[in-house]
Amino acid sequence: MAFYTSCGAAQEVTGSCHLLEIGKIKILIDCGMFQGQEGPMNFEEFPFNPEDINYLILTHAHIDHIGRVPLLVKKGFKNTIITTKSTFHISKLMLKNSAGILETKEDVLYTKEDVDNAIKLFTSFLEPKETMLLEGDIKISFKDAGHILGSVSVKIEFIEDGVKKEIIFSGDIGQESRIISSPIEYWDKANYVFVESTYGSSIHDSIELSIQNFKDQIKQALNKKSVIIIPSFALERTQEILFLLKQMSENKELNDVSVYLDSPLAIDVTKAFLEFPELFSKEIETLIKKGENPFEFKELIKTYSKEESLNIVTQRQPKIIIAGSGMCEGGRVGYHIQKYASNPNNLILFVGFQVNHTIGRKISQKDKHIELHGKKIEVNAQISKISGFSSHADQKELISWIDKVKNIDCIYLVHGENNQLETLKNKIKTQLHDKVHVVKLKERIYL
Ligand SMILES: [Zn+2]
Repeated sequence: MAFYTSCGAAQEVTGSCHLLEIGKIKILIDCGMFQGQEGPMNFEEFPFNPEDINYLILTHAHIDHIGRVPLLVKKGFKNTIITTKSTFHISKLMLKNSAGILETKEDVLYTKEDVDNAIKLFTSFLEPKETMLLEGDIKISFKDAGHILGSVSVKIEFIEDGVKKEIIFSGDIGQESRIISSPIEYWDKANYVFVESTYGSSIHDSIELSIQNFKDQIKQALNKKSVIIIPSFALERTQEILFLLKQMSENKELNDVSVYLDSPLAIDVTKAFLEFPELFSKEIETLIKKGENPFEFKELIKTYSKEESLNIVTQRQPKIIIAGSGMCEGGRVGYHIQKYASNPNNLILFVGFQVNHTIGRKISQKDKHIELHGKKIEVNAQISKISGFSSHADQKELISWIDKVKNIDCIYLVHGENNQLETLKNKIKTQLHDKVHVVKLKERIYL
């Protein structure tokens, strides 16, 4: 007998956490942080006892999928964490950075010490295409989710009354065509599929068009001697942007203009990426194996220390500043927005998804007045969005991902805002399957 309980990312995109109980075995899939307006939910009790969890499986190293792991450990979880080696490597960087931010808050969710305790529990590694026997007859397998480096979707299978049952958790699913990642892998059959729905109602611009758009916007802004601010996620998006800027540098399209990578986390993650050449597209893998760094070019200046960061403002224009956080909720990008957003000649170029109610969402929706670190800021700079860089599949790709899975009894939709979920649900009903359900928070479902 198996039960599913939703512990996050229900009718929203953050706080991914799914509990699967198979008999007496309790498996948690992801333990992510709630972000944006859902942030206070991180302080609520887990809807289960962390001490009772037997296994924690992590699909990838984004904070909305791993951010509450140290909290889970602090609250008593002490068993095995299963993930890929690359996700482990990157999770260490992401969680330490997360604790550094949390320790500055009035109400500290967890500390660096809690992160150290969590890191000790990453003791079991599984790679895409591999299967692991947990206990009894429970097996888990991974496939490459094509979302970010090391990301996987998970199948959990077990025998009930002599019959095999298979449950898939999609994790976050990538686009079919990406800039640097290895290609997505598909599942062929399962009884139950829990699938992310971030872009359940949207169709992305093609990646080729988006790359062209990105490069054109940079060229135009450089001609106008603008300051270009790119709020970027440290993990994957920054490396994609660096790879594209390297291409521009080699084509002499950057005009020797300085590009500042102003994020210690992004600098560390970029370095870590180079340790896993086999997880990239063939093009990038070949470059790394030839000894070339796909994320390095002559105009790039990495500003690790605070002093180096503060010094950027004194440097001549035009200039390009890549800084976190990707949704402008923290990190160094806020400082640059304060400095440069009021000038209509400057450009703020969004290259990633902006969660509802975040500062990034407000600016990207062209709100003229925002408040940042208690200061009111007038945003007159040009605002632009490149939606096609998304590391998430769009509606068409989600449908195609689900369509490859045969023998489905029911599809459960998670990790999406309500309008995206409802549109995707209707699309699935008309094109694929009758049984599709939008999961509610704390809902318990018999599988
Ligand atoms: Zn993700």
